[in-house]
Amino acid sequence: MRWTSTRREKRTLSVPTRLSAWITAALLGCALLGLSATPLGQNAPSAPAQTAPEQPPAAPSQTETPKPAAPEFFVLIDAGHGGDDSGAIFRNKLAEKDVTLSFARQLRSALENRGIGARMMRDSDTTVSLERRAEAANGQHTGIYIALHAGVPGTGVRVYAPLLPGFGQSTGLEYLEDQFDLFQHGFDMIEALGLDRPYVVGESLGGWMAAEMAALRPKEIGRLALTAPVGLWRDEAPVVDLFGSMAHELAPFLFHDMTCPAAQQMLGLTQLFSDKDDRTQEQIETLIGMSRGFRTVAKFLFPIPESGLERRLWRIKAPTLIVWGEQDRFISPMYADIFREKIKGAQIVKIPNTGHLVGIESPEAYADALIHWGKG
Ligand SMILES: [Zn+2]
Repeated sequence: MRWTSTRREKRTLSVPTRLSAWITAALLGCALLGLSATPLGQNAPSAPAQTAPEQPPAAPSQTETPKPAAPEFFVLIDAGHGGDDSGAIFRNKLAEKDVTLSFARQLRSALENRGIGARMMRDSDTTVSLERRAEAANGQHTGIYIALHAGVPGTGVRVYAPLLPGFGQSTGLEYLEDQFDLFQHGFDMIEALGLDRPYVVGESLGGWMAAEMAALRPKEIGRLALTAPVGLWRDEAPVVDLFGSMAHELAPFLFHDMTCPAAQQMLGLTQLFSDKDDRTQEQIETLIGMSRGFRTVAKFLFPIPESGLERRLWRIKAPTLIVWGEQDRFISPMYADIFREKIKGAQIVKIPNTGHLVGIESPEAYADALIHWGKG
């Protein structure tokens, strides 16, 4: 699994919660839709120049026909936080962002002294977006990516954000014949990671998967957050047809604010379908990733995303939070009430001015809700 902030095959949504709690983030809605952390040419918002790590030489323009150069790999050191984002504050004065930067510099020297190429995600007190970090982490010349954070001993949690087979570059979909293989895969993952009754967070398809897992083996899931999960069906509020729509047609159903960068990026994909002649390798990979994601979703949810979850919901024993964007046009927020009704003790948090992709559109409010729930 590779690392990411928001999208594609690797995704780490930071959802710190209480001491010693563990969270497994079971797949995320946007990952399903294959939005890429890779910039989409002119359609992507560009990161401020000063926040960019040093990059290898840019690819030659398409008018030349150069021989491909052997890639030069390096260790990318990512000092956590920075700029507006201080991270943790120790003893009321020492900021985590300064600790990580100082450590990053020492690490760079240590690596360079051993003849290992190292680059810094930031070498000053600047703000770097998660998208930018993910993009650099997944850059083709990043051989090793090291993210640095600092914490007080005994605090913090570890977040695992597994990317399901069939999304992005995650392989192995052929081993999952049906949805029960998928759920079993989830349990295998928890076991392989050595987690005991983790806090499982799932979004959209991942929410359905998380709910099914918690219903199938109630004792094995410690805590649950379901964010706009699929899995239920009411004729009066049909879930938008994912399979009969193009990506740009879906965007208005996924976002409340179509001017937000992620929505614009998704809309920008339409151009990729028509501008066939000047697509970059990255854009092509984005499209391939999207197609794989759709194929994966289709494998488990086509034609209608409902396969009996509702009659199993009562089995869930984990304390459950239902999160929904108030303006979700992909799956109506009315489904939140059904989940609450059927899962004993479940609570609902609705996030205002937010569509289906809650974590992308309102990351702070969303993280607050998840953290708060994690603290019990
Ligand atoms: Zn941190």
